[in-house]
Amino acid sequence: MAIKKILITGGAGFIGSALIRYILSNTGHIVKNIDKLTYAGNLESLKPISESPNYFFEQIDICDAKSINRVFKKFQPDILLHLAAESHVDNSINDPGDFIQTNIIGTFTLLQQSLSYWRGLSGDKKHDFRFHHVSTDEVYGDLNKNEALFTEKNSYKPSSPYSASKASSDHLVRAWYRTYGLPILITNCSNNYGPYQFPEKLIPVVILNAIQGKSIPIYGDGQQVRDWLFVDDHACALFESALLGRAGETYNIGGHNEIKNIDVVHGICKILDELLPSKINNIKNYKELITFVDDRAGHDIRYAIDSSKIKKELGWVPIETFETGLRKTVKWYLENQIWCENTKIKSSNFKSMGE
Ligand code: NAD
Repeated sequence: MAIKKILITGGAGFIGSALIRYILSNTGHIVKNIDKLTYAGNLESLKPISESPNYFFEQIDICDAKSINRVFKKFQPDILLHLAAESHVDNSINDPGDFIQTNIIGTFTLLQQSLSYWRGLSGDKKHDFRFHHVSTDEVYGDLNKNEALFTEKNSYKPSSPYSASKASSDHLVRAWYRTYGLPILITNCSNNYGPYQFPEKLIPVVILNAIQGKSIPIYGDGQQVRDWLFVDDHACALFESALLGRAGETYNIGGHNEIKNIDVVHGICKILDELLPSKINNIKNYKELITFVDDRAGHDIRYAIDSSKIKKELGWVPIETFETGLRKTVKWYLENQIWCENTKIKSSNFKSMGE
């Protein structure tokens, strides 16, 4: 396969950094990462590949049209993989402004700059260009216990300011395909977990609180169901769909791992009991640290993804089971506490624990 130039937004975040590590470790493609480096962006997550001659980074806000225009002109990408976003549901409830700005205006800015760049291309470079928008299953709203899995045909019913801003950006991306012919592609993925996830999300919060002997907060009764996908499996799915997916299409990506939040937490505690037996006073098993707290406003009950389309069309299936992926994740956090300490932590004491 010919070497591609891949422009990635949000590559210093959790999934973006996994994607860049995946591409540079497994292929000869050239990657340029543009990231504003908000509290969620961490260049240390890219250390394993930062010396690669095929890797370039620039600190840029995706809302800055002039800088984006300059990057397109100079780098001449074959593919844009757009991951930059404000991604934490709890923050979107407390302060939605940045979500509207980055997720909607930022995506609009990228669409406009991509369109003007794409119109200037010709031949195969024009035909094969892709604007790959990375989105979430949360745009579909939630399911009750017995409802069928989300397919690409589900209508949009976002619940939170986060999912509403992602839904808006998905609509913009589709409109730029329908109206202007820009060759776009959208993937909607379920909850990711794995190494390098910012310690404000459920799994790292639980691991880090437990080993520090702090209480493990769980929203409501912990019965919310999420479909968990190991981040390296998502990175592989993004890469495959960006290269092989059909223009104008949407692909759902999921892990086939529907698990209740409370069971995720019990699973982590069990692995910790085995790997790092508790030395905390009066605590024999880490699950004794669990405390139930007031539920999140508008908390979705269940998400579950039908990913048969991407499997059928592109042959992608996740490799990791939840058991193997969770064990890898817990081990990674135990061995990389310096990464956690160096991560700029806005939320004090890891109190926030959204999935
Ligand atoms: P993240 O919060 O870990 O990382 C987001 C990155 O975007 C950070 O590096 C941040 O610095 C950067 N960024 C934020 N605003 C920016 C701006 N204005 N300009 C440039 N860069 C900016 O997020 P993540 O979990 O890696 O998610 C990546 C994408 O995948 C998001 O679009 C998210 O909606 C989507 N997604 C995430 C999940 C999940 O479980 N984490 C699931 C499905 C889809």
